[in-house]
Amino acid sequence: MIEINFIIDYHIHSTFSHDGKSSIEEICSAAIRKKIDEICFTEHISATHASPCCHNLNMEEYSKEIERCKDLFQEILIIKKGIELGEPHLNSQELIQYTSDKTLDFVLGSIHFIDDIDLVCFADDKNLEESYIAYFEEVYNSVSEGDFDVLGHFDLLKRYAFDLHGKYKHGDLEELIHEILRKASQRNIGIEINTSGFRSSSLEIFPSQLILQDYIELGGEIITVGSDSHTAETVGNNIPPVYLMLKQLGFKHVYTFDKRNPAGIKI
Ligand SMILES: [Zn+2]
Ligand SMILES: [Zn+2]
Repeated sequence: MIEINFIIDYHIHSTFSHDGKSSIEEICSAAIRKKIDEICFTEHISATHASPCCHNLNMEEYSKEIERCKDLFQEILIIKKGIELGEPHLNSQELIQYTSDKTLDFVLGSIHFIDDIDLVCFADDKNLEESYIAYFEEVYNSVSEGDFDVLGHFDLLKRYAFDLHGKYKHGDLEELIHEILRKASQRNIGIEINTSGFRSSSLEIFPSQLILQDYIELGGEIITVGSDSHTAETVGNNIPPVYLMLKQLGFKHVYTFDKRNPAGIKI
C-alpha cells in the first residue's frame, strides 16, 4: 500500500464567500476529523464588476477569523489565508490592495467570467470549438498578465459545457493549451488539481491528465491540490487518489504556500 503522508486542501470557500455554506471553524473541525494536515481558504474576489464577488470580501474580518482559528487549532491543523481571484488580468489597479497584502499566503487565479458573461451560460450560444477557444484564450490572458500564484481549475468550462457539447478534444486545442502552460511556467505560476470535477457531469478532475502530462514535460513542478469545497462535508474529497495519480505521472511534490512563497512537500 502506498502511504499518503501529508494531505493538503488548497481550495476552500467558507461563508466569507457569497456561495460558501460553512463557517471557517466548521471547516477546520471537518478537516481535522478527516485527518487533513494543511488547509488554505480561498475566498472569492473578482475583478469583473458584473460578478457577485466583486470586492465583497471583508478582509479585516476574514483575517481576524483565520487568526482566531489558528489559535484554536494550533498544532492540530495548519491553516492558511488565501483568496481566489476571478479574472486576475482585469482591473489590476483595483486588485493591488489584495495582491500586495503581506499577510496573504496564497492567491489562486481563476476565470469565472468572460466579457461579463458567467461561464455557467457562456457556451449556450456557441459551438464546442468557439466556446473552448474563447475560454482558453482568456485563461492565456490571465496567466500572461495576472498577479497570482496558481491557476485554478484549468479547464473549468467543461463543467458547464459538457452537457451541451460534450468534452473538448485535447488534440484540437493542444497548441493553445501548451502556450498557457509555457507562459505559466515562465511566470512561475503553478497549476491546481481541482477535484470538484468529480462532482460535475464530466466526472474528470480539472485539468485533464493530458494537460498535466504536457506540464511535466515542460518542466512544470508547482502543483496544488484542492477540493473547491463550499461546505465542510466535501473538504479533502478525492485528494488521496490525486496524489497517487500525480506520482504515476512523475510529479514528486505538491506545494504549500506561506506569504505567497511556495514550498514543495514530497509525495
Ligand atoms: Zn473557481
Ligand atoms: Zn473556488
